[in-house]
Amino acid sequence: MTEAENLVGPPQALRTLSSHLSLVVPVYNEQENLPALCDRLRQTLEAKEIPYRIFFVNDGSRDGSLAWLRQLAATDSRIRILSFSRNFGHQISISAGLAHADGDVVVVMDADLQDPPEVIPDLLAKWSEGYEVVYAVRKKRKELLAKRGAYALFYRILAGISDVEIPLDSGDFSLMDARVVSLLRSFPERNRFIRGLRSWVGFRQTELAYERMARHSGEPKYRTRHLMKLAMDGFFAFSTVPLQIATYLGLLAAGLGFLYLLYALGTRFLYGNPTGWTSLAAIVLFLGGTQLMILGILGAYLGRVYEEVKQRPLYILDEVIGFPG
Ligand code: UDP
Ligand code: MG
Repeated sequence: MTEAENLVGPPQALRTLSSHLSLVVPVYNEQENLPALCDRLRQTLEAKEIPYRIFFVNDGSRDGSLAWLRQLAATDSRIRILSFSRNFGHQISISAGLAHADGDVVVVMDADLQDPPEVIPDLLAKWSEGYEVVYAVRKKRKELLAKRGAYALFYRILAGISDVEIPLDSGDFSLMDARVVSLLRSFPERNRFIRGLRSWVGFRQTELAYERMARHSGEPKYRTRHLMKLAMDGFFAFSTVPLQIATYLGLLAAGLGFLYLLYALGTRFLYGNPTGWTSLAAIVLFLGGTQLMILGILGAYLGRVYEEVKQRPLYILDEVIGFPG
């Protein structure tokens, strides 16, 4: 893409699809959800006469998901399947789907029907108005207050220390113009925090409120540990502010140390008070703790740099099904 093509032009009059809408759906052990998902997608999109293709990414499922999809692809030419050699994770699955999806627009959605297919025509309507990115924002989170608070805090901090503003309560469920998709595809990084990259590219972005459903069936695959990793990826991929913490803490510790030295010298000579073991232990612990913490932060960046320079492939495809030619 040349620089001129990359510029943000004036909003166009109502756009229409010239080919089709592509869906990217990561699938990890979703056999109970796939039939209902496909039915609702077909009903919704056919009713609105929206031509579509579905790119399922099978992320190393251990249940019958792949077998079911394979059967579907045999009878429906709109179905494409990318099947990984093992489980690579949600964000990588989305990346693989985006790398293969074609069409004028791409919608990313989960397979568990938490992202209702009925919202897709509304997302598309926003795109017609001229927006390149339309992210679905959930109206109500049906989650614990603590989890909600953690999310809000995460996005608040991220906005503060980086130049990505991810709207609170938006997830990966979104519609992107082919131009945005081809940009995301061209990003070489391994550490992929899709909702951050999506916000980072810019263009005209807007939101659309929807009611997020409970999972149709089965257990959520995202555990707290994964969410923590996702949050850390967000911080480290979009900001180097944590690295500067060392500088500020160092200044603070040196300043405090100096003041304390004055105090200790003063009391020693004026009153003859020896300052003893307790204060020494406190100082050593404070300094040792901060130094270890800073080393940890350095390590987090170093590890990620190492991941990037290895240049390993993002994922390994075991099989692709339904692609012509
Ligand atoms: N998923 C995946 N790989 C994984 C975990 C999840 O492809 O390692 C898929 C899963 O099948 C679903 C979507 O990612 O379509 C979101 O997963 P989940 O519903 O478990 O997450 P949550 O809704 O709690 O964010
Ligand atoms: Mg879910």
